[in-house]
Amino acid sequence: MNEYNPQPKIPATMLATDLDGTLIPLPGNDSNKEALARIFDDHESGAIKLIYATGRHFESVIEAIETYTLPRPEWIICDVGSAIFKLIEDEYTRYMPYEAHLLESTGSVNREQVEEALTGIDDLALQPPEYQQRFKVSYKCTTETLSKLVATIEERLTTANMPYDCMGSEDPFMGCGLIDVLPRNISKAYALLWLATHDDFSPDEVIYSGDSENDYAALVSGFRAIVVANCSDGLVDKVQQKLKARGLEERLYIAKGKATSGVLEGCQHFGLMKAMTS
Ligand SMILES: [Mg+2]
Repeated sequence: MNEYNPQPKIPATMLATDLDGTLIPLPGNDSNKEALARIFDDHESGAIKLIYATGRHFESVIEAIETYTLPRPEWIICDVGSAIFKLIEDEYTRYMPYEAHLLESTGSVNREQVEEALTGIDDLALQPPEYQQRFKVSYKCTTETLSKLVATIEERLTTANMPYDCMGSEDPFMGCGLIDVLPRNISKAYALLWLATHDDFSPDEVIYSGDSENDYAALVSGFRAIVVANCSDGLVDKVQQKLKARGLEERLYIAKGKATSGVLEGCQHFGLMKAMTS
């Protein structure tokens, strides 16, 4: 379940955002840096709360926070929605209610059993330990074999009756294929909506901002949504169409600014942050 029915009168209090191409300033973009400073200050003063929702693994999120001087968010949804961390007394702690939820939804079929079911597939290699999670088994392969391997894995998971799905993507930097095996239906959108319905805030308090296809599901969940100007081709149309079909066009803000500037603009549009007066 990735969608809910919004209550438009509830004011936004939290920004949930993708990192790369969205909250992280684009290289050499000064207005992005200024926008980040505004968001940083409003977070510091307690005016807004933050959730990062990213495909990055946890250590890589922490590295991004240090490298780009990002605010330390209240929540981190990482590993494509397969793990949630909460900031408690200045430390990030794995959010155990979500672990328990995933454990239940996988019927206790664990990663060792998944790995076992996928042994002996040619050209399929496990990624290093830092890319692995209790509920995410990550492989790499050559780009040429990617689609064939995704099909093979799906077939093996189905045959073994395992409640897991696999997702393939190309890594343009490494020039290889990446395959994640996750509990069925798990995504950033799923984790965010689950969190927003199981902690002390509601989905109606959340604004979601993103820039690419992997943000699509969260952008159309029903949260107030910001698509930044540097988004991938076709994303705006696709999000717009889906929200229109649900009668939720007013939940979308299409930013004129790129990345961080677009996020700030959208937060001001939705009244989460005040527009600059000076
Ligand atoms: Mg992105």
